[in-house]
Amino acid sequence: MKEFVLKNLYSFLGDQKAQLRIITFHDILSEDYQKFSDLVFYLKTNWNIISPNEFKKIINKEKNTTNGKNILISFDDAYKSQRIVTEKYLDPLNIKALFFIVSDFIKLNSKDEAHEFIRKNFFKFKNKNLKLNSQTKNMNLEDIKLLIQNGHTIGGHTKTHSQLSKIDDEKNLYQEIVASKDFLENNLENYKIEDFAYTFGDFESINKKSLKLIFKNFNYLYTGLRGNNYKINSKIIRRDAINLKENFKVISAYINGYTDFIYKNKLEELEKW
Ligand SMILES: [Zn+2]
Repeated sequence: MKEFVLKNLYSFLGDQKAQLRIITFHDILSEDYQKFSDLVFYLKTNWNIISPNEFKKIINKEKNTTNGKNILISFDDAYKSQRIVTEKYLDPLNIKALFFIVSDFIKLNSKDEAHEFIRKNFFKFKNKNLKLNSQTKNMNLEDIKLLIQNGHTIGGHTKTHSQLSKIDDEKNLYQEIVASKDFLENNLENYKIEDFAYTFGDFESINKKSLKLIFKNFNYLYTGLRGNNYKINSKIIRRDAINLKENFKVISAYINGYTDFIYKNKLEELEKW
């Protein structure tokens, strides 16, 4: 039903003007590589795919966005597949992306450990028996270094992927937000991290205390709430999660903002904190 409505809405209304958006991917299985490539090609044809630096210039009003529809690609959690699709499809087109890293996840050395970590930490509703694809694994520090060498940007995404709004202990919160950033910076030849995406990305997964600690340590906070970042007056960044199983018209409906109204009040609330 939702799919039907969105598809038709997009067919009927088409593209909206002046967009500054970020799309988010998680693990991409090899069966979806072609779809990923097709989507990148589609965006390259119909949108301006911008780099993290260009995105920030626009947010900071150092650069104008009169030229319509701008989109940045981001990846969450640090799955190995993200390096693969980046080298295969983004690097040849000179597209620069933004990667949000779970710092404990990239320390794991085996697929079994990675799967255990994912089952334990990556979902709000735990399922010990969740079946994961045999391709699914984590990136390691070497993968991250290579991404940086190739001009991509790294951001924080906590230490263990815990839900920040549920952490009462100050030390714990510090570990997740600040210590994880320190670990990455120290192990990436003093690379400076200024971007942070909070885990799960919904309104319920963040609170005032964690938001304040994030802004003490990072310049930009990335949510999972959908929206257009064009002309926003905060550093609370809207993002559109992309499911490659969905039809392009549904994806187009999202990135043209047809469901943004659902998230508007929540974003305004976060901006007041
Ligand atoms: Zn995540």
